[in-house]
Amino acid sequence: MRLKSMFLHGFKSFARPTRLNFSEGITAIVGPNGGGKSNVVDAIRWVFGEQSMKQLRAEEKFDIIFAGSSSTPAGSFAYVELVFEHDGDTLSVARSLSSDGKNVYMLNGEPVRLKDIHERFAGTGVGKELYSIVGQGQIERITNAMPQEMRMLFEEAAGTSFYREKKREALVRLENVSNNLARIEDLLIELD
Ligand code: ATP
Repeated sequence: MRLKSMFLHGFKSFARPTRLNFSEGITAIVGPNGGGKSNVVDAIRWVFGEQSMKQLRAEEKFDIIFAGSSSTPAGSFAYVELVFEHDGDTLSVARSLSSDGKNVYMLNGEPVRLKDIHERFAGTGVGKELYSIVGQGQIERITNAMPQEMRMLFEEAAGTSFYREKKREALVRLENVSNNLARIEDLLIELD
């Protein structure tokens, strides 16, 4: 899965609609300090549902909406769309937040739950906490990772983490069913 392009409008310093196209190979984003380079990475994390304000370098969730400058008034929403190329197909994932609190996630233009986005990207390494986004100082975190965390990264790379989550959900359902069965058996005994 390859990030082909992204579109930002009203996200942090990207007040105006901005499209970034990434060609094959390595892309380096250069610019002056405070120019908005890290905001591009924040935008990717945000689309994948980053909840940590620290990771987004914000105080609260509305801080990612353009706050205004001497020449441009503050925005009323933030919108970010990421376009991926996957097996010859195009997959777009987007998120918008308006200042009245309306938050929408989208897959190929259709509103979805964040869970649907995570499921669609499971096993690809793409996501807010996965190895595809390595922020400043995080290489050390990965090289010093505890075996369990390291295993999580390998499972994601191998594409098996999706099944681990499905197994966990199935086990919870099984547990509920066996609790219900036990309750029914108790009732049957009482009726006898
Ligand atoms: P450095 O090279 O120093 O790491 P950078 O290019 O990575 O800098 P960023 O940290 O991405 O820069 O951008 C910081 C800039 O984004 C600051 O000028 C800050 O004022 C601006 N910014 C952050 N949030 C908002 C917002 N909500 N509205 C407007 N501007 C914002």
